[in-house]
Amino acid sequence: MTQHHPTEEYLLHHAAGALPEGQALLVAAHLTFCPECRETVRQAEALGGAFLEEDAANPVDVVAALARFPFDLPPEAPQVAPAAAPISDIPLPLQPYMGARLSGIRWRTFWPGMQTVRIHTKSDPAADVSLLRLASGKGMPIHTHGGDELTIVLHGSYTDETGQYSVGDVATADPTLTHRPIADAGGHCVCFTVIEAPLKFASPWARLAERFLFR
Ligand SMILES: [Zn+2]
Repeated sequence: MTQHHPTEEYLLHHAAGALPEGQALLVAAHLTFCPECRETVRQAEALGGAFLEEDAANPVDVVAALARFPFDLPPEAPQVAPAAAPISDIPLPLQPYMGARLSGIRWRTFWPGMQTVRIHTKSDPAADVSLLRLASGKGMPIHTHGGDELTIVLHGSYTDETGQYSVGDVATADPTLTHRPIADAGGHCVCFTVIEAPLKFASPWARLAERFLFR
């Protein structure tokens, strides 16, 4: 079970189709792990559908409708696993961007113990979307954020000042947070991250590396 979820704001925006591509991919990846958030998104989609059906001359009271959220809806239909699904350790929504296996990723070393690969999105090229691989016990350089950073763990786990994150968990960092994620002992950690604005590294060497390797 996942312990850390996207905020309800991200889930509602995802249901409305209002997230930029990178963030939408990350939330979709989390939904493959998390029945709880799938249910929230399903209810938000039902709410959106109700808005669309409203008579334009009799507009729905959005505030009152949101106050009733979440609603009691019929339970989600059971998910049927596709027969002979290919073995994969990458969530289905991410596979068009990076293939089906983490072992197929061609990493570039960014920092001792840290490798990365840039993921190219189609509709929001300004976003910094990437995969990160931290060796066991290794951490990212300490950094703050110029924008919101969303992270989902795809393999292993890491810990920072805000807690421990395992496969399927989502971390949200904003410009007020200075943190240093460190991969837990026992194996490497792979994360998919989406950053709205470039990270602000405290170390000038890390800033140089970011400038020349991360783009
Ligand atoms: Zn969740």
